[in-house]
Amino acid sequence: MSSLPDGRIAVYTGTFDPITFGHLDIIRRGSAIFERIVVGVGINPEKATLFTPEERVDQVRRVVAPFRNVEVKFYYGLTVQFVRQVGARVMLRGLRTTSDMEYEFSMSLANLILDPEIETVFLMAQDEYSHVSSTLIRQIATLGGALDKFVPPEVKEPLLRRVRDHPQPPPPAERELRPPER
Ligand code: ADP
Repeated sequence: MSSLPDGRIAVYTGTFDPITFGHLDIIRRGSAIFERIVVGVGINPEKATLFTPEERVDQVRRVVAPFRNVEVKFYYGLTVQFVRQVGARVMLRGLRTTSDMEYEFSMSLANLILDPEIETVFLMAQDEYSHVSSTLIRQIATLGGALDKFVPPEVKEPLLRRVRDHPQPPPPAERELRPPER
């Protein structure tokens, strides 16, 4: 194992496909508490992403540029190993709903077993972002809804371009939706 982890450094990981104002709020608040925040842009093997890892890292870097104590890295593999690698002691997570809580609770317990020196610290999502998820943003973008309240401008344009280049299949014709006649 590498050197003793540092409690002043926190790691905030996610897929960020794409990064939203909800994520950004956690990063902003975390950066006011910790001396350094390392944002880890990861790969979730169970999820196909709209953006490549390089694109996601690039977007997150642009969005966090105003924060002097925040840096962005790509990572692959176990999160606790990444936390160790960067010399941090804390994993920062955001909590939106009670369903987030169940998932995050078991994740933090598993991580404690994997590495008892790494602690998870949770910040509650602000009211206005508690419903915001990357999945919801991708859906709004696909259906042509307004994105300004959910994602920064650095994300909005590439997101619109990506959904334009990869259109969804057209909805079924009306007759296909009608129940069969008896
Ligand atoms: P993953 O795809 O790995 O679940 P996400 O990008 O969905 O990653 O989320 C990363 C972290 O950010 C999680 O702790 C999640 O709860 C938190 N998070 C996501 N959206 C919000 C939000 N709107 N407000 C606060 N925290 C959030």
